[in-house]
Parts: sequence; C-alpha cells; structure tokens
Amino acid sequence: MNLRIPGPTPCPPEVLQAAAGQMLNHRGPEFGAILRRVTDGLNWVFGASRDVLSITTSGTGGLEAAIVNTLSPGDRVLAVSIGSFGDRFGNIAAAYGADVQWYKTEWGEAADPAEIGRRLDADPGIVAVLVTHNETSTGVTNPLQAIADEVRKRNRLILVDGVSSVSSIPCPVEEWGLDVVVSGSQKGWMVPPGLAFLYMSDRAWAAYERSRMPKFYFDAKRHRDSLERNQNPWTPAVSVYFALDKAFELMRAEGLERIYARHREVAAYTRERVKAMGLKLVPVDERFASDTVTAVWWPEGVDGRALARRAREEFGVVLGGGQGKLEGKIFRVGHMGWVNREDVREALDVVERLLTEARAAASA
Ligand SMILES: *Cc1c(COP(=O)(O)O)cnc(C)c1O
Repeated sequence: MNLRIPGPTPCPPEVLQAAAGQMLNHRGPEFGAILRRVTDGLNWVFGASRDVLSITTSGTGGLEAAIVNTLSPGDRVLAVSIGSFGDRFGNIAAAYGADVQWYKTEWGEAADPAEIGRRLDADPGIVAVLVTHNETSTGVTNPLQAIADEVRKRNRLILVDGVSSVSSIPCPVEEWGLDVVVSGSQKGWMVPPGLAFLYMSDRAWAAYERSRMPKFYFDAKRHRDSLERNQNPWTPAVSVYFALDKAFELMRAEGLERIYARHREVAAYTRERVKAMGLKLVPVDERFASDTVTAVWWPEGVDGRALARRAREEFGVVLGGGQGKLEGKIFRVGHMGWVNREDVREALDVVERLLTEARAAASA
C-alpha cells in the first residue's frame, strides 16, 4: 500500500521494529534514558534551548495544551485561520472561554503578515495570536517568520500549530521568537500517532503563571516537573517513545538541512507533475505551497471520489481527501516524514492513468 494521506504517514521498518519492543517500567532508569534522548532530539529539531515537552495525546490535544497553559477565560485572541485546522485552533480557545477575534482568508490563500499587524494595532486588547504554520487542509504554508515579527513588535504572544511542519519544514522556534509551538508524532516524525510536542518560551511560561484556564492532564508544569526526573506525569505511550528514539537516529544521520531539502524537492516534483496533468493547485500563490502536503482541485466533470476509490482498490494508492467545504472537490498528496520522490511518482502515475481514462470516458 502507498499511503499518501497527510498523516498518519508511513514509518521506516526499523522504527516499527523498535515500537514492537517489550514494555518496561515507565518510571525506571531505562525509560528515563529514552525520554532524555528523545527530549534532546526534540530540542534539536525545534531549535530550543529549554526542554520541549512531549505529551501522550494527538496533535489536537497539543493545541488544547497550548491554549490552556497560556490563557485565561475572557482573554482576547486573534485566531488566524486559512483552513480547517486554523478553525480548530480558534474553536478550542473559544471552548475554554477566550474572546476569539477571527482573521480568516479564503481557503487556498496564506495569511498576510501586514494585515495581522493592522489588526493588532486596531485592538490593543488582543493578548495572543493563534496561527497555523502549515495548513494541512489546503496545502498552504503561512509566512510564519514574517507573521512572528509583526506579533513580537507589538509584544503579544504567538501560539503556533506546527503539527504538519516541524521536522519537515524549517521552524526554528527561538530564532523566530515563537512562544508556543505544537507538533504531532504521526506527521513528519516518521513514527505512529500518540505523542504531541509542546515548546513554550520564557514568555509563555510567564503567561502560564497568570493563566486561569482549567487544566489537569495537559498542565505543562506537571509535565516539566516530571521531566526533570526523566519521567512523564502520566503513563506515556511507551511504544511511540521507542519508535521516536529510533527515528531520531535516522534523522541525525540524514541531518536537518538534508531532511528539509528532501521535502522541498519532493514537493516541487509533486507540483510539477500535477500541473503537467493540467490540474490546478489549491494554493492560490505557489510561493506559499506546502512542502509537506500538496492539495489539488479535481477537474470539472471528473468524479474525484470514484477516482480515489479506484486508486485505492485497484492500485493500493491511498490519497487524502478534502476536509469540510473542500470534501469531494480536492485531493491531497501527503509527502512528509519517510518519503522520497519514487513514493510520490508511483502515486501520481496512478492518478494520471485514471484521470486519462476518466477524461476519455467523459469525452466519448
Ligand atoms: C493533523 C493536524 C492536526 C491535528 O492532529 P490530530 O493528531 O489529528 O489531532 C492539527 N493541525 C494540523 C496542521 C494538522 O495537520
């Protein structure tokens, strides 16, 4: 099977083998050593000088942790949404009682840093900006560094959903002055679902001290205090830690710059192929097209759902579909984590073949 959804993504065989290891005491020294190594690996990839926390939960749990650990009910936040994951981040804040102001773009567009600056100037009461780095639903990567500059200039917090970017697209959290950054194990990290990663800056920890949103399982301080003893506060997804420990070996051998270059190269190849088929990308401006997932409009007159079903049933190629209002209208090709050009070539060959057949049938 060629799994080309944007997460969970395929894992290298040696990572799966590591995940199959026997259980051990999650409060004992063997697991403690693994947790320490994994945390060092996270710090390396995030570009963080203080420990990145790992929490047993999905990416959405990580987003919830970002909110409850820095905000209080009634806090005004600017939720920048360019797609369904941006909506989700803002909706979590609203669920916990934040006063959410929305800046939404058309789906397929990136956010405009200058517009964010204007909205912050117009509303000094906004304490934090929520933003998606890589919007997986539309295949658009926001200009995060420029956005962070606007937010920092005005001294507000910037909370980032980096679930489908960190480890595959550069996101040096301290260099860019980000306050909270969340990622998720099943996207670009070459491991199964089960862990979310949470970076918090000194400013975010200061905000933690003020924050009054309810928290228990996701309480960052409990996680930080346990980590000092090389433990998690609760029983962690031990097998995913085994997997991640191995994945970091592979990532260190390849090197971050080469990992980023591989993602850029595979993404460029994907875009060239779909354009050569006469298909249109969902990203309106290709400069903001994602290096981890490519979103493509199904052409007029082609039943995309039927085509995707044939790709899966007859060729074992599993494409991502559209989410929310894009359902049935687009397909997505995931290319993050353990991926090379051949994986994508095989999937796109199948799409091209089925598309040619469908177009011939439509014109017959
Ligand atoms: C996948 C994803 C999430 C949600 O992660 P889950 O693990 O499904 O909870 C959030 N944000 C982005 C950008 C994602 O790609």
